[in-house]
Amino acid sequence: MTLERTYIMVKPDGVERGLVGEIIKRFENKGFQLVGLKFLSPTRTILEKHYADLSSKPFFPGLMTYMTSGPVVAMVWSGKGVVKAGRVLLGETNPLASLPGTIRGDFCIDVGRNLCHGSDSVENAEKEIALWFTEGVVSHNRVVERLIYE
Ligand code: UDP
Ligand code: MG
Repeated sequence: MTLERTYIMVKPDGVERGLVGEIIKRFENKGFQLVGLKFLSPTRTILEKHYADLSSKPFFPGLMTYMTSGPVVAMVWSGKGVVKAGRVLLGETNPLASLPGTIRGDFCIDVGRNLCHGSDSVENAEKEIALWFTEGVVSHNRVVERLIYE
């Protein structure tokens, strides 16, 4: 079985507010597998590539300032349906529209301080993983897999 992968990032506000563990915990609790993890200060260059489709938006300069304001935690999670399920765990782009129980619904208010990023499609996930994890990720067989999947 080829498992789907997604790129999840704790943004600078999530790091600063001490929510790294909380965010990781939600993906772990669900049963997804962590295959890539690092702490870094993203450059403008990588962020301009990551958010290339948003470069003409009025909020783009503010987004760049926000995303370069501190270090981020970059992650790759793997599992069945993880791209869509990851977006569900994160909540809506606008935290005020996010249901309680989601990360954004539980922990934030403004769209420009929404704590986390999650890939929006399988295709974009693979592009983002290639951009942020040029060194590759770690694939390994977990003993618990048969307790999570039927
Ligand atoms: N963003 C913003 N203002 C907006 C829309 C988006 O500041 O009106 C920021 C927000 O941090 C969001 C990021 O730009 O997470 C990327 O936008 P996208 O539409 O891709 O939302 P996401 O996929 O992160 O939910
Ligand atoms: Mg997006």
